[in-house]
Amino acid sequence: MVMQVTCWILGLSLLCLSSLAQSAPFSVAQEQQPAALTENLLLLQDPEQKLNFSDILSPEQKQQLQPLHGHSPNFGFTGAAYWVAVTLHNPLPVQRELILRQDYPLIDRLDFWYQDSSDQWQQVATGDRLPFVSRVLDLRDFVFPVTLPANANRTFYFRFATEGALNIGLSVSDPTAFLSQLALEQFLLGIYYGGFLVLVIYNLFLFIAVRDRAYVYYMGYAISYGLYFGVHNGISFQYVWPGSPWLANQSLVILLGMTLIFGIQFARTFCSSRLLAPRTDRMARGLLYVIVPLTVISPFVNYGPTILSLALLTLVVAVLLLAVGVISLLKGSLSARYFLVGWATLLVCVIVYMLKTFGLIPHNAITHNAFQFGALLEMVLLSLALGARVNEIQKRGYIDQLTGLYNRGYFDQRLPRELANATVTGAPLSLLVLDIDHFKSINDDYGHARGDAVLQAVGRLIRRLVRKPVVACRYGGEEFALLLPRTDCAAAQVVAERLVREVAQTDFDGLALTISVGVASTEPSVDLSAPEFFELADRALYKAKRNGRNRYVVADSSIANSGVMLSVGNV
Ligand code: GH3
Ligand code: MG
Ligand code: MG
Repeated sequence: MVMQVTCWILGLSLLCLSSLAQSAPFSVAQEQQPAALTENLLLLQDPEQKLNFSDILSPEQKQQLQPLHGHSPNFGFTGAAYWVAVTLHNPLPVQRELILRQDYPLIDRLDFWYQDSSDQWQQVATGDRLPFVSRVLDLRDFVFPVTLPANANRTFYFRFATEGALNIGLSVSDPTAFLSQLALEQFLLGIYYGGFLVLVIYNLFLFIAVRDRAYVYYMGYAISYGLYFGVHNGISFQYVWPGSPWLANQSLVILLGMTLIFGIQFARTFCSSRLLAPRTDRMARGLLYVIVPLTVISPFVNYGPTILSLALLTLVVAVLLLAVGVISLLKGSLSARYFLVGWATLLVCVIVYMLKTFGLIPHNAITHNAFQFGALLEMVLLSLALGARVNEIQKRGYIDQLTGLYNRGYFDQRLPRELANATVTGAPLSLLVLDIDHFKSINDDYGHARGDAVLQAVGRLIRRLVRKPVVACRYGGEEFALLLPRTDCAAAQVVAERLVREVAQTDFDGLALTISVGVASTEPSVDLSAPEFFELADRALYKAKRNGRNRYVVADSSIANSGVMLSVGNV
């Protein structure tokens, strides 16, 4: 920024020495599409802000007005005011109504001079230091309708003064073309902020349901970020606080600070960094001790230094949160994976935007809006991440700690679902109930810990032998239940047989082991409830025990004589 200004001043002083260059007036076409006026501007820097309009009209000052000569009219943070003159030429024999537009809305004071029908100079004083009603048109950026007499030249003057970045983005168009451009812009902005709003409302409802603190931080992050871009686009001032120039100016720093605070808190909670990445987490918390006070005092101190320090802090936070995500991921946090996808997407978009800013990739609608677009994309991805995290936490409640298989609770809610599914689709469903033989003696002879190790080994063996969609659960003690969707009795017997054989052949750290298995399968003609179906398999298991263990038994017609089957009819 500083470089830019220096180059520009250097260029300007060289020009002052050389002949006075003049920009050609902009010749307005019959149907004038929105066109940038950058090439046609004449500028004068007013470092002490002491010139007034009559000074500018004086011949000697008029001569000081210089074209940009290919330089960008973005001057960063500057204490100077800039006077801008632009001349429009109307080659047609009719009077023209035209629209002059300044597309960067964060200008403290913007004054505009034009000649009325009796050639008297008229001034419009506006800018975001004045209430929103100072705008000629109720639009998010500065729009001035002007009239151009037939076959004539007209010069218009602007004065820009602002504490923040001074970006001049003037364009001209006829009112019809301007309206189409405006309609498209409003439509896209509507989608953009609608997206933010939907995400916030959606996650608010999820928060009410699950009460996870990460949602609060997410909402804070999304609201501050959304409003931050709203300020950039001029939307917040127009619709949220039109009566408060103070907020219009101070909100940018406050919102940037709040975005950082909520972003850090979200990442810390989401990635469980206090547990998984304690050192990085301490650094992130340390940053909060700087950012929170800075944000609180920002409305009351100089704008320039605060926004610069916050911009620097943003870089530090970006790197730190990336580290939080990566470390948590390496430590095994699944949520961190989702977090990193969202965060990395934002960073890629920011890099695209930077590359565009430095002229390394072309300037187009995508690269120019990459930063803003990336923010919404990140919000969508983080919202998905929150959903995935809740699933993860819920699933953890369904996992057996010892074996890593599903637990009894999961089995109890999954079995009725699978049964209903089988009834609806007509696909078969089988159930294996599996019990370790004489397990009590292992505990008695070698101790409980050894018993646990055996249970874990059996769990691993089961996991190795069965694949999705089989649902393997530890039902309790040394009993396991395996749900086999879309598997008929014959195929289930193959699985049961293999399990029995593999366990008998496996050496469990010096111990030999056998299991007994009961097999039950649904029959299209019989409608079983979940407890009945389980009972069927369980009875088959106890028959296997009675028959000498180390085997499987299929629930068959002999079991049909028992009490359970009486209630469900003949198999
Ligand atoms: P059977 O062949 O008839 O099934 O004989 P068993 O000894 O395996 O049968 P029983 O159901 O009488 O004994 C099961 C034992 O499993 C009782 C209990 O001490 C032990 N047990 C249950 N849960 C655990 C556990 O989580 N860890 C360990 N180490 N032992 C457990
Ligand atoms: Mg047993
Ligand atoms: Mg048992």
